[in-house]
Amino acid sequence: MYEELTEILRGSDNIVFFGGAGVSTESNIPDFRSEAGLYSAQSNYGMSPEQMLSHSFFVRDTETFFDYYKNNLIYTDAEPNDAHKALAKLEEMGKLKAVVTQNIDGLHQKAGSKTVYELHGSVLRNNCMSCGQFYDLDYLMDPAHCDGYIPKCEKCGGVVKPDVVLYEEALDDYQISGAVDAIRAADVLIIGGTSLVVYPAAGFVSYFRGSKLVLINKSSTSMDNRADLVIHDAIGKVLKEAVDGL
Ligand code: ZN
Repeated sequence: MYEELTEILRGSDNIVFFGGAGVSTESNIPDFRSEAGLYSAQSNYGMSPEQMLSHSFFVRDTETFFDYYKNNLIYTDAEPNDAHKALAKLEEMGKLKAVVTQNIDGLHQKAGSKTVYELHGSVLRNNCMSCGQFYDLDYLMDPAHCDGYIPKCEKCGGVVKPDVVLYEEALDDYQISGAVDAIRAADVLIIGGTSLVVYPAAGFVSYFRGSKLVLINKSSTSMDNRADLVIHDAIGKVLKEAVDGL
């Protein structure tokens, strides 16, 4: 059904995938930036997700930050879907060089992907703000380690902060340069599950100089006219069928 995409995959061993929230929603992780996410934040907290997930709000009202964060951004039962699995398989075949993601759930690694640039960080990594001690997600979510919703370091009592890029915070240099280098060197760039409006997606795509740009998204995007192939369908279904066809 997606023969054209299968042909593009067959013809390259230097593919990069750039993914957005749509990749995670198929694992039942809702997009907090969606209309429903916006509504729920406003009605439950009287604020927008952007306000609550800002650095200044984290400092000002750490308790409410973690209340919102733990109840709206953490899905401990989420499993990789067909999109994550197909991309891991493409990497194993030596065709895919990197996944660049705006998602923070760690599902690409869980599916087996090795080279993953997480532009917005990961909920799986957390560090004490005072002594730097590393903590996993289980620690962060365990009420026994928390004062209210706020996770505390068992060594020094400092606040444990997720390695997630908050609004007003800079992206991590290592993740940015890795992503830019991979995109700049790629022969095929597949963009999936993003409308390309969320910062900094569009900027990253501008580094692409390769031969085939593929867009997979349920709805149309601002870059559809620039792409060599546009598929308006569910990302998991498309990637699974295209990779299975190899
Ligand atoms: Zn500490």
